[in-house]
Amino acid sequence: MPAEPPGWPGPDLPDPGAFLAARRRIEAFFAAGEAAGLRRLGRRLLAAFEAVDRPIQALTAEVCPYCGSVCCNRRHGIPERDDLVAFAAMGLTPPGYRLEGDPRDPCDFLGPRGCRLPRAARPFRCTWYFCDPLRLHVEIAPPAEYRLHVRRLESLAAARRELLAAFEAAWKASDPSP
Ligand code: SF4
Ligand code: SF4
Repeated sequence: MPAEPPGWPGPDLPDPGAFLAARRRIEAFFAAGEAAGLRRLGRRLLAAFEAVDRPIQALTAEVCPYCGSVCCNRRHGIPERDDLVAFAAMGLTPPGYRLEGDPRDPCDFLGPRGCRLPRAARPFRCTWYFCDPLRLHVEIAPPAEYRLHVRRLESLAAARRELLAAFEAAWKASDPSP
């Protein structure tokens, strides 16, 4: 089972100017057609998200309603740079993000029945994070079910890793500035 999620955010919301500049640069890079090969990897990542969505949804529907400290706060709902890259490669247009206010407030995308965003349009950490009660629920599942769950998560992580590595190479080749 995955432990600490990648891209776990700091205590503050990101600087709005830097965040918007990064988002525009990434979207412009994909819009310029420099990333044709990345779209294929984006489709693979989207399929991997779709494969994990239903089982994770079933899990959270069972466990989260009883949670005393809901993890969906605003800072967790803001994507990091790698998420913005993944959204663009998957052909998703992320929503607008409010980058002011208290980062510990409930996430803007949290609705009465859980997250209102499609799985692939959430920051990766929202899928990768398993709190102790969720982890326990997975670990007590029948072995075959448990192995399938782990395999799906591994495929998701591998698809994302491959996409991001290909993106970094294409990004450097097109623009050497960081
Ligand atoms: S994932 Fe865990 S910490 Fe987050 S709301 Fe569900 S039960 Fe609570
Ligand atoms: S799962 Fe949805 S509601 Fe929860 S932090 Fe992530 S984006 Fe926000």
